[in-house]
Amino acid sequence: MKKEPSNGSMLADPTLLDKIDKLFACNVGEYIALPQLVVVGDQSSGKSSVLEGLTRLPFPRDSGLCTRFATQIIFRRSRDMSTRQITASIIPASDSDAERATRLKAWRCESIGGLEPDIFSDIMEEVYEMMGVSTTENTSLPTFSKDVFRLEICGPEEDHLSVIDVPGIFKNTTPGITSKADIHVVRDMVETYMRNPRSIMLTVVPANVDIATQEIVEMAREYDPNGERTIGVLTKPDLVDKGAEDRVLDLVAGNKLFIQHGWILVRNLNQQELRDGDTDRDQAEKAFGRTMPWNAIASDKFGIKSLKTRLQEAVTENARRAFPSVRSEISKRLKDSKNALKALGGDRETKEQKASFLLDIIARFQDITAQALSTNYGANDIFDTNIDLRLATVIVTRDTAFANELCKWGHEYEFKGEDDPTHNSSTENAITKPTAEQQTVQTRKIDSMTELDGIVTEQTNEALPSNNDINKWLSKLYRTSRGFEIGTFNGSLLATSMKKQSVKWVNFANGYISDVITIVHRFIVTTLKIAAVDQRVFENMLSIMMDALVDKYHRAMEQVQFLLHVERNGTPKTLNHYFNENLQKCREKRLKSILGDKVFHASGDVPVIRLDDVMAQDHRSNVEYTVQDIHDILQSYYKVARKRFVDNICIQAADYYLVTGPETPMKLFSPSFVNRLSEAELDEIAGEDASVQRRRSNLRKEIRELEEGRKNLF
Ligand code: GDP
Ligand code: MG
Repeated sequence: MKKEPSNGSMLADPTLLDKIDKLFACNVGEYIALPQLVVVGDQSSGKSSVLEGLTRLPFPRDSGLCTRFATQIIFRRSRDMSTRQITASIIPASDSDAERATRLKAWRCESIGGLEPDIFSDIMEEVYEMMGVSTTENTSLPTFSKDVFRLEICGPEEDHLSVIDVPGIFKNTTPGITSKADIHVVRDMVETYMRNPRSIMLTVVPANVDIATQEIVEMAREYDPNGERTIGVLTKPDLVDKGAEDRVLDLVAGNKLFIQHGWILVRNLNQQELRDGDTDRDQAEKAFGRTMPWNAIASDKFGIKSLKTRLQEAVTENARRAFPSVRSEISKRLKDSKNALKALGGDRETKEQKASFLLDIIARFQDITAQALSTNYGANDIFDTNIDLRLATVIVTRDTAFANELCKWGHEYEFKGEDDPTHNSSTENAITKPTAEQQTVQTRKIDSMTELDGIVTEQTNEALPSNNDINKWLSKLYRTSRGFEIGTFNGSLLATSMKKQSVKWVNFANGYISDVITIVHRFIVTTLKIAAVDQRVFENMLSIMMDALVDKYHRAMEQVQFLLHVERNGTPKTLNHYFNENLQKCREKRLKSILGDKVFHASGDVPVIRLDDVMAQDHRSNVEYTVQDIHDILQSYYKVARKRFVDNICIQAADYYLVTGPETPMKLFSPSFVNRLSEAELDEIAGEDASVQRRRSNLRKEIRELEEGRKNLF
């Protein structure tokens, strides 16, 4: 084939285009839209002929095979080479498995020389086989492949250009070769290339058909509505019917149809000329351009040379515009994929890797727990996004509410002479005040979790302490249970009245411990989820731990039942001196209330009371006297017992078994838990899903390729 000297339109920055080609070669085009030139059009519209004209290489059209895969053709000028050298290789489709990808990548065919048709046919045979597409009719092999055939053409005279020839779209199937499904396969493939906002579409349309109805023009308009990256090529002008030429001439002259780069008319060789092989393509085109009416076309809109010039301008400009953002996109994508890989954690194949993976999770879990319990909330952002994780604070708030509510609403009967509890100065915020209509207090403050059903107690509504006469109740109690004592009462009476007076402690204490269990469980779930990262691992760990957790929760519940029993069923007992002081105060108060109005002030402002008054005042009956005594003792004892009970519940049941003690559920997440796991259990918890493994290896491949691509950029 005769070789024309290069037209001298050497590109301003061939190194830039070179870099982009290298990015394609390391598969970066898979992740980032790279600037490229694609040739699109219907089957037999003349795509290969146009490429042949542009490259002066014979494209395999005579083999009867339509293009079955995208072909990337890269031209490089290399001044230090004396002859043209052609290298063929394959870029495997991105969804190929590793083995296939390596095999295809390894394939290479160098120094093909001039691409003589028969040599080229042999190469194509090999490529078809490598890709696994059919060469004969009626095989089970697919007709099309998503692999890319790459032809790199280096020589002293080459123009810098890189172009992708994609299979032509078609509407009618060919029995034995193309199926209905293939129509979609090809359409999808072509659309993938057209969708890339950085690709320039060389849209090839035969001039002898009605251009407006061409599907490929519609597709180009869809992906490039402003026509900024579409270059129109009209082929087969020699086949235009007599009389229909004006329509074509109009289209070329004006920039009709949406595209901004306009249309260029080329005349390629027809079937016959190709077969005979003695026609020079460029000569024939020139001769055709001199004939009427085609000689009217402006010279920059006719012929393969004009097309080449326009293409080079468009390609260079496109590459230059896109390049800075490509560079930053690669960096960003690289960062994202590295983060994603990190989030997946280390490999988990061997027993040791699995164990160390779990130990890492446990270390993270314990870190968060330690921070949560020491209120070191500044140490980790999760405490800002997840208020529930501020464990110490949530617990102490609940403790306070429990203490206050038991103080205000925990007793059955209101004691006489007690200050109105709602005006108590020690009132703290976390207490629910019963409304006038409700007249009840709820014992659970926190929404329960379904997985704790049957472990914790349900919500209860407690009536407020009764304002009915406590003395009436006590005197009935005394009358119905007294024995032979004279002027005093049986010790068991205190126990009986204490049991009745503290009846609501049961629900208040159970409500409290149920809330603490829920708080702790929610903390564990949230923290574990954060520490485990992988949702499946989190679920596995939680489920294998659940029995042990529930056991801990049960123990806390049991401790509450134990304390309730001790306080309510045991013998009333205290060594606390506050009991005596309280009792003393009660008696003083009572005496004061009886004698208060008899007091007068003697000299020196000393309050004085007559002995007669004292003697005369106490007219209470023996029973009344005893009942009041019971009241005062019960009141004094109740107060001491209540405080003791609240402290014990908070310290023994909640703190020891659930929050900071040696028996808390958080302590279950320890290295010894991992060590105790059998190999099967380890595998079940920490073994990777096939999908995770795939994702990891995909990310590794992506990172490797992007890094290689980035190296080429700088
Ligand atoms: P592709 O399927 O789009 O690659 O189309 P080809 O380049 O293989 O061309 C299909 C057929 O149209 C071939 O037989 C070519 O010889 C013929 N052809 C291409 N361009 C022209 C042209 O400008 N004039 C004539 N008469 N035939 C052409
Ligand atoms: Mg073709």
